[in-house]
Amino acid sequence: MDSASILNIGFDDTDSPKGMCTTFLAYKIVDYLKKQDSEFLDFPRLIRFNPNIPWKTRGNGAVSLKIRTKNPSKIKNKIKNFVSRYSDTQNGANPGLVFYENKIIPSYFTEFSELALWQLINRNEAKKFAQKNDLEIFYKGNGQGLIGAIGAIGYQFYDYTLELLSYRRPSKFGKERKISSESVKTMQQKTFPYTFNSFDSKKSRVLITPHGPDPVFYGIRGEKVDSLLSATKILETDEKLAGHMIFKSNQGTDDHLKNTFTKSTMKPYSSGIITGTLSYTPKIKKGGHVFFSIKCNGDELQCAVYKPTGLSSIALALIPGDTIRVGGGIRKASKIHPRILNLEFIDIIDLKRNIVKSNPLCKKCNKKMKSKGQNQGYQCIKCGKVSKNKIVLEIPRKIKQQLYIPDVSAHRHLSRPLTRLGKINQKLKFDESFSWFCVYEN
Ligand code: ATP
Repeated sequence: MDSASILNIGFDDTDSPKGMCTTFLAYKIVDYLKKQDSEFLDFPRLIRFNPNIPWKTRGNGAVSLKIRTKNPSKIKNKIKNFVSRYSDTQNGANPGLVFYENKIIPSYFTEFSELALWQLINRNEAKKFAQKNDLEIFYKGNGQGLIGAIGAIGYQFYDYTLELLSYRRPSKFGKERKISSESVKTMQQKTFPYTFNSFDSKKSRVLITPHGPDPVFYGIRGEKVDSLLSATKILETDEKLAGHMIFKSNQGTDDHLKNTFTKSTMKPYSSGIITGTLSYTPKIKKGGHVFFSIKCNGDELQCAVYKPTGLSSIALALIPGDTIRVGGGIRKASKIHPRILNLEFIDIIDLKRNIVKSNPLCKKCNKKMKSKGQNQGYQCIKCGKVSKNKIVLEIPRKIKQQLYIPDVSAHRHLSRPLTRLGKINQKLKFDESFSWFCVYEN
C-alpha cells in the first residue's frame, strides 16, 4: 500500500455490568476495517491493566489495533461512531478512544502503560498526557476510558499469550450459555500445554464461559493460533455462534506483579510484590480467611489470604520468622481494618525450624507429665516419676520452600498459571492469512 499511514487505535470502558464488552466492539470494528481494505499489522491487542482498581467492570481490559490505511480520516470518523453506538454509557461506561498515527510508539506512551499496570492513575493525568502529546482523543462521560486507551497503544510485549474469543448472536445476549463440560475437559487435555485455564478439574468447573450478559460465548487462552483453532473444534455446544477473534494479550503473564513495593509506592489499589519476615502466628477469621503480618524494611504490613484462593492452608502453616515473597493488591484502610495486602501468591524463601518446648513424657506410662508448679519440675500423675526440665521437640513443617499460587478458579486474568511458569513467548510474526478473525456463515 503506497502513501498509506500507520494508525494505532486504542479504546476502553465501553461496557458496564449490564451489557456490552470492549472486545466485542473490537470485533465489530475489525469486521468494518477488513471491508475497508485496511491492512492489519498485528493481532488485536487485549491488554489487562491493574486488576485492583475499584471501578473496573470485570478484568480491566483495554484494546488496541494497528493498521495501515490510505484513508485514516474516514476510518477515525467511523470508529468514533462505533464507540458511540456500542458503548453502554447509560449504565456507567465512560468510553475513551485514542488515535495515534505513527509506526513507532514513543517511549512516553510505554511508560504511561507500564504505570497503568500497577498504579492507580488519575483520569486528569490521561487528559494532560493527550494534550501534551497532541493526541487525537474522543471520550464520553468522565473520560476514564482514556487511561486504558492510551495504555493499550503504549503497551510493549515482553511475553504474550493469545485468547480466542467467540461471540454470540444478538438474539442470545443475556441468555444462559450451554456447553458440554465434558468437551471442555477433553479440549483441555488434548491441547495441553498450549491452552490453559479452561477447566478446573478439582471443582469440575468450566472456566471458559463468562456469566454476565456480555456478547462473549467463550474465551480460550493459549500459546499458539493452531491450538486455539483446534480447541474450538473439540468444544460441543448447540448454540450457533456469530464468529471469533484472536487477541494477543498480556493475560497469564503476571504483568501487574513486576513492581517491588517501597514505602512510597505502597498506596491503596496498587499492585506489586514484597519480601518480608512473618511477625506473628497467622490467624484464621470468620469465613476461613487467614491474616498475618510481615516485617519489611522496618515496617509492618498486614496480609490477607482469602479462602477462595486455596492458599489459606499454606498461610496458616507459616510461623514467625519465616521469610516469604508475596504479591497482590493493596486494600485501602478502613475504620475496622488497616491497610492490607491481598495476596495472589506466596513464595516461601526460608522456613524456620519449628522448635517447641513441651512437658516431658513418662517413659514407663507413656503419659505427659504435669507441672508441679513454677520451677518445681514435672511429675507423672500415674506412677509419680519426676523430671526437672521441659523437653525440646521439632515439629515437621507442612509446607516447603517453593512458590504457591491460587487454585485455577481463583486466578485473575493476569495471573501466571502453573503451566506457564518460566515460559516467555516472544516470537510471533503476525500473518494476515492466519484465521485470527472469522464471521461464521449462517
Ligand atoms: P472488561 O474486562 O469487560 O473490558 P473492564 O474490567 O475492563 O471491563 P472497564 O469498564 O474498561 O472495565 O473499566 C476500567 C476503567 O479503568 C477504564 O476506564 C480504564 O481506562 C481505567 N483504568 C485502567 N487502568 C487504570 C489505572 N491503572 N488507574 C486508573 N484507571 C485505570
